[in-house]
Amino acid sequence: MVVTLPAVFALRELQFLRIWPPLAANSFPAMSKPVCYSTKAFSTASASSPLSASTIERRAPTDKDVQIQIRYCGVCHSDLHFARNEWGFTQYPCVPGHEIVGRVTVVGSGVTKFKVGDTVGVGCLVDSCRTCPNCRAGLEQYCDNGMVMTYGSTDKYLGGPTLGGYAQSIVVTEDFVLRMPANLDLASSAPLLCAGITTYSPLHHWKVGPGQKVGIVGLGGLGHMGVKFARAFGAHVVLFTTSPGKAADAKRLGAHEVVVSTDEAQMQAQAGSFDFILDAVAAVHDINAYFNLLKRDGNLVLVGAPGKPLAVGAFGLIFRRRSFSGSLIGGLPETQEMLDFCGKHNLTCDIEMIRMDQINGAYERMLKSDVKYRFVIDMATLA
Ligand code: NAP
Ligand code: ZN
Ligand code: ZN
Repeated sequence: MVVTLPAVFALRELQFLRIWPPLAANSFPAMSKPVCYSTKAFSTASASSPLSASTIERRAPTDKDVQIQIRYCGVCHSDLHFARNEWGFTQYPCVPGHEIVGRVTVVGSGVTKFKVGDTVGVGCLVDSCRTCPNCRAGLEQYCDNGMVMTYGSTDKYLGGPTLGGYAQSIVVTEDFVLRMPANLDLASSAPLLCAGITTYSPLHHWKVGPGQKVGIVGLGGLGHMGVKFARAFGAHVVLFTTSPGKAADAKRLGAHEVVVSTDEAQMQAQAGSFDFILDAVAAVHDINAYFNLLKRDGNLVLVGAPGKPLAVGAFGLIFRRRSFSGSLIGGLPETQEMLDFCGKHNLTCDIEMIRMDQINGAYERMLKSDVKYRFVIDMATLA
């Protein structure tokens, strides 16, 4: 199905879509509608409505599909951005959720990697073209022909948007299903599927390690995993927060130092000293303050995705030849590598379990930076 843009799209949204490939370029051919089944979910019909109980259709598993009974689903700030159309391209109905873990209940006849009863995960991707250079390199998140995201992409089987993990079950082609480490608590591992890989990937790609001073900005779902990974990779870790009350937790999670970013003197004391900074803030903020903290040739990598642009002053970058980069989740091979790393090092997320019907309150707390440090929905409560 070819994505058509509603006529009401303003230039600003079109510009945004150009830098956001999943919808802009996703133009897989439509398929004839397969056999479907119904499953319970939580969805929203508009940017201003709360999430509420609904019943959705999934395709019955085809040859290469795995059907998963969802046990837990993490709550990412992207779910909130998307449900409320803060990025300007949400199609409704919207079922968020891309930190999915559960048990395999059905496998198609051609499935070779999984069997019924396996404990598996699904992250932000459920398909891609699989033939472009990026897909062939295992970087499906940068697919030239438009990856299929777990929610909000065009569903090539059913038409309409793909529907995410705030649901009792999901059907995913086996190549986009991940194996969960058996030794880790399942609920606390769910957020690894997005918060984990989104922080692991840039730290790994830019080879963060011993001898480097690394900053993590924002102690939320992504940030707290950024702290854990940067510490596990051997760097000296400094956490920047707007919430002084999170300092003790940040140290417990692995930070060597904590800087309250609203305190000018504390920020000044760190000037010019960082090799690498990972910014995981969900709202518009002054990014220039962090350029000033980088050494010569230091790199600030943005993973946070606020709905409005960030202002970038030239001088913070051109003095000391600093770089400003971005990074999007991770591909399937790297996500499995990250999960295996977490299994080996006994790394999970710090979570607060909620019932499905607490989701709207959880979003409000997320907006107040009041999450310690990831909400995870117990999907058994969606009965
Ligand atoms: P989160 O749990 O809500 O954490 C965001 C943190 O940012 C807050 O806890 C807070 O930390 C800080 N913060 C919030 N408002 C702020 C403000 N006005 N100024 C400065 N700091 C502020 O969100 P998340 O789930 O970690 O997601 C973070 C961002 O990453 C979101 O925009 C999300 O969409 C994006 N994301 C991107 C990718 C990707 O592939 N690039 C993947 C997943 C998510 P303190 O209290 O410590 O200041
Ligand atoms: Zn996410
Ligand atoms: Zn591709």
